[in-house]
Amino acid sequence: MIITRNTVQREIILQTVLNMDNHPSADDVYERLRNDNPSISRATVYRNLELLAKQGKILHIRMPNGADCFDFNTSEHYHLRCDICRRVFDIDLPKIPKINIEQKKYKDFTIEGYSISFHGICPECKK
Ligand SMILES: [Zn+2]
Ligand SMILES: [Zn+2]
Repeated sequence: MIITRNTVQREIILQTVLNMDNHPSADDVYERLRNDNPSISRATVYRNLELLAKQGKILHIRMPNGADCFDFNTSEHYHLRCDICRRVFDIDLPKIPKINIEQKKYKDFTIEGYSISFHGICPECKK
């Protein structure tokens, strides 16, 4: 296998996400990487996060009430964003039945996916 600069950068980005257990946004990952890896651009981080998510190595979580974030836990689970501190938490709920979008069609639209997420107030903010 040929190890290119791209491969090395992607691995660094993956390792960074694996070491962040707080559902980082792309910007959070970039900020974390920046000091030690000044040659990696924000665009590179964004692009590689998308790629890693496509490869199934991380999860891309779409949060309607805030920035998208990424998760090293690739098992199926739900998320809750705190309305006050904006942090994203894993929540363990029974699986909601899947909506069948196999046709990927609604009228003239092409459906690429859907997401279910929750919001509320975390225990710390409740205090
Ligand atoms: Zn909170
Ligand atoms: Zn999660």
